Amino acid sequence: MEQTSVFDRVTEAAGVRSTLEAAARAARAMSRAGDEPGARAAADRNGAMTHSWLFTGPPGSGRSIASEAFAQALLCTDPDVVGCGRCRGCQTVAADTHGDLKKVTTQGSVIQVKVVRSDVIPWAHRRPTTADWRVVIVEDADRLNDESANALLKAVEEPPERTVFLLSAPTTDPADFSVTLRSRCRHVYVPTPTKAHVVAALRMGNPELTVEQAEWAGTIANGHIGRAKGLATDEGTRAWRGRALDLVEAIFDPATAYLRTRELSSEAEKESKRRNEPKEEKELEQLTNALGLGAKGKGAQAATRGSAGVIKELEENQKRRRKREEFDLVDIALMDMVGLLRDALMVASGVDVDGGSGNGGVGGGSSASGGAGGGSAAGDDAAEVGPALINPDRCRTSLELARRVSPEGLVTCIDAVMDAREAMGRNVRPAVALDGMMGTLQLACGVGQR
Ligand SMILES: [Zn+2]
Repeated sequence: MEQTSVFDRVTEAAGVRSTLEAAARAARAMSRAGDEPGARAAADRNGAMTHSWLFTGPPGSGRSIASEAFAQALLCTDPDVVGCGRCRGCQTVAADTHGDLKKVTTQGSVIQVKVVRSDVIPWAHRRPTTADWRVVIVEDADRLNDESANALLKAVEEPPERTVFLLSAPTTDPADFSVTLRSRCRHVYVPTPTKAHVVAALRMGNPELTVEQAEWAGTIANGHIGRAKGLATDEGTRAWRGRALDLVEAIFDPATAYLRTRELSSEAEKESKRRNEPKEEKELEQLTNALGLGAKGKGAQAATRGSAGVIKELEENQKRRRKREEFDLVDIALMDMVGLLRDALMVASGVDVDGGSGNGGVGGGSSASGGAGGGSAAGDDAAEVGPALINPDRCRTSLELARRVSPEGLVTCIDAVMDAREAMGRNVRPAVALDGMMGTLQLACGVGQR
């Protein structure tokens, strides 16, 4: 059987994979060197391993996949392969249940300093229980505020001997990430993956997918691995995309256009509620139990002033999390709209888009495109070379848009959608941002003007 590695999911681009593989091998040598003073450091002659890492890259680039694969390799127990993907260590990291792995995530927009001080730091200073290392993953390190970044900095500057910190952030921009903390970490930039890489990562993580399904999701996700996974495996994600693209078609239907924008924003609210409610109930129950109040009945009313404050804090955090997800859902829909408008712009500008305009079929599906480009033999590579539509399954819409709207008009449309995203970034309510956007879209497409 072919030997697999957790690093098969990690991009080769920019040396990401080789850097991490070398570090994981060095880490293995260090842990075998025993605890005599200096022995561990000496085992890593090339200095490939270090205690603190910072992964950056655009959303969806796979920076969290890279840090997870690295964590697996550090906690892997296979005697030969470092990061085998099959042992208990590798699998419990993937399932998020490894006792020597701690993932720091946020409910709100900020990682609170008390989380770092009372939870992360004490945990990081304990010795590993079953593995050679303890690994702390901070997924959204850009959400550390000054205070919590400083609290973490102390641990990163003088790391416990057997603990590794893996931080992730979009960029090393001081707005995203503490400059001092950055200077104490080894930086790994994870570039946007190619479509071929997205498809490969998808199939590796989800062996039940067919080639066609992975190709379809890999094309539409446009370099975003997490999104590709959602599209390939989750009906709700596919339905949400459909709703977003329908909104582009609604531009030409003045009677329903604003109905559709209202629907999108109210559905985002509902969907966020649906996703969060079970979690919220469980959290409240855990908290009330911890406070000794009992979750149900009149006992809950006997809450003292102090515990009422704690419950209120939880409820406020939950409300923030819901809002954030609601905004995120609308933002994803807007990016899908941009993708379809971009497709239309390519068609309108006369770019040859044959490459991806079949209906997602692989191999036999290229009948309409003929052999003009000469690229039909090498399926994957051909799709990377020529510009292809992001939404091949909606090519009728992009053709129709290109026929009715000038390239300049389409550029105005893309700007209008980006403006709506920006407005939401300033906390404008989605319903308001979407209505404003629809007005501009109709104007740019000449709808309602005779
Ligand atoms: Zn393993």
